[in-house]
Amino acid sequence: MTPNPTVPALDALKFDNRFTRELPADPELNNFRRQVPNACYSRVLPTAVTAPELVAFSREAARLIDLDESACRSETFTRVFTGNLVLPGMDPFAMCYGGHQFGTWAGQLGDGRAINLAEVINSSGHRWMLQLKGAGPTPYSRTADGLAVLRSSIREFLCSEAMFHLGIPTTRALSLTLTGEPVERDMFYDGNPKEEPGAVICRMSPSFTRFGSFQILAAQGDTETLRQFTDYTIKTDFPHLKTKDKYEAWFREICDRTMDMIIHWMRVGFVHGVMNTDNMSVLGLTLDYGPYGWLEDYDPDWTPNTTDAAGRRYCFKNQPQIALWNLGQMANAIVPVLGHPEPLQSALDDAVTTYTRGWKIMMAGKLGFSAYDAENDDAIIASLLGLLQTVETDYTIFFRRLSGFDQDLEWNKKEMAAFLAPALYSPGQLEENYLEQFHRWFRIYGLRLKKEDQKGRRKRMNRVNPGYVLRNYLAQMAIEKAEKGDHSMIWELLDLVRRPYDDQPGKETFAEKRPEWARHKPGCSMLSCSS
Ligand code: AMP
Ligand code: MG
Repeated sequence: MTPNPTVPALDALKFDNRFTRELPADPELNNFRRQVPNACYSRVLPTAVTAPELVAFSREAARLIDLDESACRSETFTRVFTGNLVLPGMDPFAMCYGGHQFGTWAGQLGDGRAINLAEVINSSGHRWMLQLKGAGPTPYSRTADGLAVLRSSIREFLCSEAMFHLGIPTTRALSLTLTGEPVERDMFYDGNPKEEPGAVICRMSPSFTRFGSFQILAAQGDTETLRQFTDYTIKTDFPHLKTKDKYEAWFREICDRTMDMIIHWMRVGFVHGVMNTDNMSVLGLTLDYGPYGWLEDYDPDWTPNTTDAAGRRYCFKNQPQIALWNLGQMANAIVPVLGHPEPLQSALDDAVTTYTRGWKIMMAGKLGFSAYDAENDDAIIASLLGLLQTVETDYTIFFRRLSGFDQDLEWNKKEMAAFLAPALYSPGQLEENYLEQFHRWFRIYGLRLKKEDQKGRRKRMNRVNPGYVLRNYLAQMAIEKAEKGDHSMIWELLDLVRRPYDDQPGKETFAEKRPEWARHKPGCSMLSCSS
């Protein structure tokens, strides 16, 4: 083994492994695939790899655990966050969880390729679980290899940080490394496997607990461990809940956080793609970036996930309903803890109201209204969304440009068409009837805006309508370069997504609509679960 050159910042990391200390462990220590009853986790070490190499790190995520850039550039950092070096005080483990996949109970899933290294307490006293993804098999790997490829790791690394900078609850990404080892993947499950570069990312979150973490214990009929894990989760992740009805309050908070996250996704045009209950965080964080995607033209039925193409269960417009369905499964799982289902049912009913109200307020914000006006705004929002989906219109560009609309301008249809053009995928083909309708919509919108204080409207709108999102084709371009050994575009995009709401001179092309070559290109418009 190569010596471990000391890196003061890494040596100073303060670990406090509360999860493994307080929750029931699988007694088996050997690493082989198995069913793990009555336990929350199994201890397992990452698999060492031959040639770890740093590709990128997030300086903002690093700062959360008091690491500066020089620490991130050290050889020890690369070794630790590829899984080659376990630091003293770490206690690596894989979590046990189950889940409903595409609406069907799938039994035990668990961290099949995620290994939690340790919990760090930073200098402000905040706790961060460090988790490697792609660092080798665990008892939960089932028939798979426990590894991850570069393309999906780049996508998760960049999108985690992009979501954070957009102000959307998410797990974070600290680092992206190469293992130096090939990984075989059949990207489209069509009998054409290919060797791809293996990679590891380190994710960070206050907790990676999922709805499925509770479901598995309920499915095993292990009410004692279920209650223990529930109490632990409330104590650690929801410490403000101390009242007698804390279980109900807890579930209500999970509903609120989940719906808040979904409203954010709908605001920015994010489609998760695999909203299985094992991918739902109890903290309401966007979790497990797989075949996700960003709306280009506003198509509510769009799903980036090829596995979901037929049913479209996880398409853009279904996300709120699916979140509710998942919350329903979570409620079922914790009924034994409460003893009766009524408070959970009422929380679920309220979640519908919370979402609907929150979505309307959010949409009003996108339109530049300082408050949602129940009398007028439903119709304005509905007719706009109808128009946007009639003709392929870029969701991000349209709303970003809207802040530049002047309600005092008496423009004709030609001027309006010129305003829309940068957002349209086929600008030449607008029918007269469509232009007429949109023109009428703008007139009504203009009248509505006149009731608003115009001062600061543009600024307000630009804070909720991003100019820059991680467009599917941009991530794919960075991937193709990285697969050839050029990591520069990963850094460039990481920098771009830092300020999604600012105009970034010189970066305008990254805000433009998807080029035609990317329309049907794998990785841009279609993604498989293979990762
Ligand atoms: P996902 O659909 O990515 O959320 O994965 C569902 C389950 O499959 C989780 O338990 C993952 O840990 C597991 N899984 C996915 N890919 C792999 C892999 N390459 N090796 C082991 N387990 C995996
Ligand atoms: Mg998952």
